[in-house]
Amino acid sequence: METKQFKEFAKEMVDYIGNYLDNIRDRPVLPNVKPGYLRELLPESAPEQPEKWQDVMADVERLIMPGVTHWHSPRFHAYFPTANSYPAIVADMLSGAIACIGFSWIASPACTELEVVMLDWLGKMLELPPEFLASSGGKGGGVIQGTASEATLVALLGAKARVLRKARQENPDVNENDIVSKLVGYASSQAHSSVERAGLLGGVKLRLLPTDANNRLRADALQDAIRSDRQQGLIPFYAVATLGTTSSCAFDPLEELGVVCNQEGVWLHVDAAYAGSAFICPEYRYLMAGIEHADSFNFNPHKWMLVNFDCSAMWLKDPNDVVSAFNVDPLYLKHDQQGSAPDYRHWQIPLGRRFRALKLWFVFRLYGIANLQAHIRRQIALAHEFEDHVKSDSRFEIYGEVTMGLVCFRLKGSNELNETLLRRINGHGVIHLVPSKIRDTYFLRLAICSRFTESHDIKLSWNEVRSLADEVLAEERP
Ligand code: PLP
Repeated sequence: METKQFKEFAKEMVDYIGNYLDNIRDRPVLPNVKPGYLRELLPESAPEQPEKWQDVMADVERLIMPGVTHWHSPRFHAYFPTANSYPAIVADMLSGAIACIGFSWIASPACTELEVVMLDWLGKMLELPPEFLASSGGKGGGVIQGTASEATLVALLGAKARVLRKARQENPDVNENDIVSKLVGYASSQAHSSVERAGLLGGVKLRLLPTDANNRLRADALQDAIRSDRQQGLIPFYAVATLGTTSSCAFDPLEELGVVCNQEGVWLHVDAAYAGSAFICPEYRYLMAGIEHADSFNFNPHKWMLVNFDCSAMWLKDPNDVVSAFNVDPLYLKHDQQGSAPDYRHWQIPLGRRFRALKLWFVFRLYGIANLQAHIRRQIALAHEFEDHVKSDSRFEIYGEVTMGLVCFRLKGSNELNETLLRRINGHGVIHLVPSKIRDTYFLRLAICSRFTESHDIKLSWNEVRSLADEVLAEERP
C-alpha cells in the first residue's frame, strides 16, 4: 500500500470509527453468534493477490461487527471498564507509525524519556509520595507495563531478588534454592486471580488470607499468617494489598497493612488496577492512605482514565531489585549511555515495548486533569443513581458499599434466584452484567463502563433489571 492509498484508507477508517462510537448505543451489546461463526464466513487461506481496502472495510461491518461485544456501549456493565478516547486512539496511530521498540534508551530516547516524565506527571496527579517519582532525584520512578498482572509479577520478582540479595550479603555461601523454597507471599482471598498466578509464575508459595466482613484484608490476619509461617521456618517476603477488589471493589486498609509489612521486611505491592484512576480526585485519596508504606504501586489508566489498552502504570520506590532480578545484558543491547536513563527492558518481562507514553501525553494534554476528574466523578455519580434505583425497590438489596463506579446488588432470596435473573438479563441481550460470589453469597455486578453512559442509560438498565426480575419472581410463585 502506498501513501496515497493509506491516506484514503485511514481517513475512511477515522470516519468509520467516529460513526461506530457515535452510534454504538444502537448496536446490541452482546453478539448473537455461535462459536465457529467466523470460520464459516472466511476463505480457507490468505489471498494470493492483494485485495482492495474498500473490500476489507466492507467485511469489517459484514463479518467482524456481528461478533463484537461492544465494551463501549452504555449498556455494557460487565467486569470493570476498559478505557477508550479519541486522543488515545490517535496516539496509538502515531505509535504504530513510529513503530519503535523502546527496550533501551538508545533504541528510541523519546520513547523512554516521555515515559519517565508521564509517569511523574501521573504520580503527581495522584499525589504519590515523592519517593516514587523520578523527578524527586532519588531512586524511584515509574514504568508502563502492559497489564496489572505483569506489574504484580514484576513486583514479586523484585521482592524475591531483594530477599536473595540480603541472604547473600549475610552469607555468601547461602543455598539460594533453599531460600526460594521457603519464600511465602500473601494477598487476600479477594485479590485478583493474577496475584495467585504471579505466585505460580514466580515459583513461590502465595497464601490467600481471609478477609473481614467488609472483604478487606486486615493487619491482624496478615500478622498472624507471617508469625505462624516464620514459626514453620518459612520466609515471608511479599504481600499484595488491593485497592478496589474485582468482586466488590473493597479497599484493603493500607495504613495498617503497611506498618506490618514494613516491620516484617515484607515487600508491599499495591494493586489498584481499577480504582487507582479515582485517586486523581482529592476526595478519593483517603482510600490510598498509607501508600507511603508501599514498595510498589500499580493501576491501569487503561481501565478508567480514558487511555486505551494497554497502559498499566507502575511505580517503584527502588527499582534496583527489579532491574537486577532478570538482568541479562548481551552486547547487542548495550549502549554508551547505559545508567544515565532507565533501560526499561529491565523493568518488565518482555524485551519489546511500544511507544505507549504517547497515549498518556495526548490524553493528559487534550483532556486536562480537570476533565479527567470530571469523568471519574460523573461515572461514580451514575453508579449512585443505579444504587438509588436498587434501593427504591424493596425486593432488592445492595451488596457491600458503592464507593466507585461499581454497584453490587441482588434480589433478596436465594443464589439460584439471582442466577436465574442474571441468565435472563444476559439472555435478553439489552444490557450485559457479570456476577460474583463472596462467602456463598451470589450477587450481580453493574459497572459503569462506557464514557458514553448517561442518566437515561442507567434508567434503561435499571428498567431492564426490574422488569426481568418481575418475570423471574412471577415464575417463582406457585
Ligand atoms: N487487579 C485487579 C484488582 C483487577 O480488577 C484486575 C482486572 O480487572 C486485574 C488486577 C488484572 O488486570 P490486567 O488485565 O491489567 O492484568
